[in-house]
Amino acid sequence: MTAAAPSTVTLNGLFARDLAEMAIPWQAEQVPDPRLLVLNEPLAAELGLDPAYLQGADGLLLLTGNLVPGGATPVAQAYAGHQFGWLAPRLGDGRALLLGEITDEEGHLRDIHLKGSGRTPFARGGDGLAAVGPMLREFIVSEAMHAMGIPTTRSLAVVATGRPVLRETMLPGAVLTRVASSHLRVGSFQYARATDDTGLLRRLADHAIDRHFPAAAEAGNPYVALLQAVIGAQASLVARWMLVGFVHGVMNTDNMTISGETIDYGPCAFLDAFDPAAVYSSIDETGRYAYRNQPLVAEWNLTRLAEALLPLFHEEQEQAVALAQDSLATFRRQYSAAWSAGLQAKIGLPGDVDDGVASALVDELLSLLQAGQADHTTFFRSLAEAARGRSARVRSLFTDPAAFDAWAVRWSALGPDADAMDRVNPAYIPRNHLVEEALDAATAGDLDPFMRLLEAVTNPYDERPELERYAAAAPKDFGPYRTFCGT
Ligand code: AMP
Ligand code: MG
Repeated sequence: MTAAAPSTVTLNGLFARDLAEMAIPWQAEQVPDPRLLVLNEPLAAELGLDPAYLQGADGLLLLTGNLVPGGATPVAQAYAGHQFGWLAPRLGDGRALLLGEITDEEGHLRDIHLKGSGRTPFARGGDGLAAVGPMLREFIVSEAMHAMGIPTTRSLAVVATGRPVLRETMLPGAVLTRVASSHLRVGSFQYARATDDTGLLRRLADHAIDRHFPAAAEAGNPYVALLQAVIGAQASLVARWMLVGFVHGVMNTDNMTISGETIDYGPCAFLDAFDPAAVYSSIDETGRYAYRNQPLVAEWNLTRLAEALLPLFHEEQEQAVALAQDSLATFRRQYSAAWSAGLQAKIGLPGDVDDGVASALVDELLSLLQAGQADHTTFFRSLAEAARGRSARVRSLFTDPAAFDAWAVRWSALGPDADAMDRVNPAYIPRNHLVEEALDAATAGDLDPFMRLLEAVTNPYDERPELERYAAAAPKDFGPYRTFCGT
C-alpha cells in the first residue's frame, strides 16, 4: 500500500495522459528502510519543495515512490533504442518510473523520475534495482555538469533503500530521484514510429515541441523545425562535453534526449591525460563511444531521429528525405562552430583574433597535448597562470616543454585574457580517482569523502587553496580506468 498523499506536492500527469500508449501505470517497490544519503537543497528550492519535508519520513517515501501525491500516476515509459548500433524495439524504463511533472518556481514543467524503483514490465532479465555507488555517481557527475553550465538532467536525492542488490557482490541498494525538463529521447520517437500510428507520432512530436521548442510550432513545417532544434541543441551539448573532456560512454539512442540535456550517467568518465581515443566503458570493446567519436555518434543518432520523424515531414517520401538531409547537413557546421568558439575561449583568445590564426593555434595545441599526454583539466586551468606570467605549472605537464614554449610565444602575443579563462576552465571536475574513492567510502557507509568532493565540483571555477587535492591529476598508479554498465 502507498501512504496518504501530501497536500504540498502537486504532480501533473501530462505524459501519462497525452501519450498513454507509451506509458504503463506502475508502482514503485516498497522500500524496507529508507535513509537519505544526499538531498539537493538548491534544486528542491527551484522546484518549490520544502527540504525539511523531503528529509522527513513522508518525504523519503515520496522520493522513493512509496507515497504518491493525490492525482499522480507513476508510469514506466516505453521507448526503443539503438544499442551499440543494434535496434532494440522495446526497451523502456526497466527500473525507473516517471512520477509526473511538477511546475517549478519559474513556471517550467520538470519531470520527477525515479531510478532503481523496482522491476517494471520493461525489466526483461533485470532486477529493477540500483546500487548506492552508481546512483551517487549519477548525482555527483550530473551536478558537476550543471555547475559547469552544461545542460543535464539533475539529481534531487539519493535514498538508500535498506535492500541489498546483487551485482558481482552484494551491495547496498538506492533510489535516485532525477529531475529533467523531460525524459523524451530519440528512442521515444523510434518507438512511436515503429507502432505505425502516425497519430501517436504526431502527438509525441507536438508534446516535444510544446515542452522544449515552442517556437517550432510557428514554423512553416513545425516537425522539420523540431528536428532542427534538436540538432542545434545536441550539437551544442556534445561540443560542451568535448571541451571539458567528458566521455558519456553509452550514447545509445535511448540515452540521447530531445531537450539537449545530458542523460544517463552510467559508464561515463572524464579524460585524465588528453587522449582522443579514450574509452572507459568495459563493454565498449570496439571503441564506438570513444571520446573523439562522440560528435559522429550524435550525428548518427540524430539521423535515426530524422528517420523516425519522416512521415511528419512530407507526404512524399522523397521530399521528406530531402528535408531531413538538409537539416542533418547543418549538424557538422553547428558542432564545429560551437566547439571552435569554446576552445578559443578556453585559451582566452580575444574575439577579434583572425579565424585562421586561431584555428591553426588550436590544432597545434591539440597535437601537443596528445603527444605530451598532458592532463586535460590541469592544462587549461594552468594555462591561465601562464597568461599571468607564471608558466611553471603548465610547463611541468610536458616531458618536452620546448615545443610547448614555442607554441606559448605565439599564443601570448595574441593577448589572452586570464580572468576570462578562469571562468570557463574548471579547476575541479569529478576526477575518476576521486569519484571512485568517494563511492567506495559511501558504499562502506562513510559519506564524508562524497560530500567534500560534491562541494568541490559544484563550485568548479573558484579555486580554493584548501582543495588542492581535488585539482590534482590522478596518481601515477591509478589506471587504466574502466567503468561498468549494468549498474
Ligand atoms: P541504460 O544502459 O541504463 O540506459 O539502460 C538500458 C535499458 O536497460 C533500459 O531499458 C533500462 O531500464 C534497462 N535496465 C538497466 N538496468 C536494469 C536493471 N537492473 N533492471 C531492469 N532494467 C534495467
Ligand atoms: Mg538509459
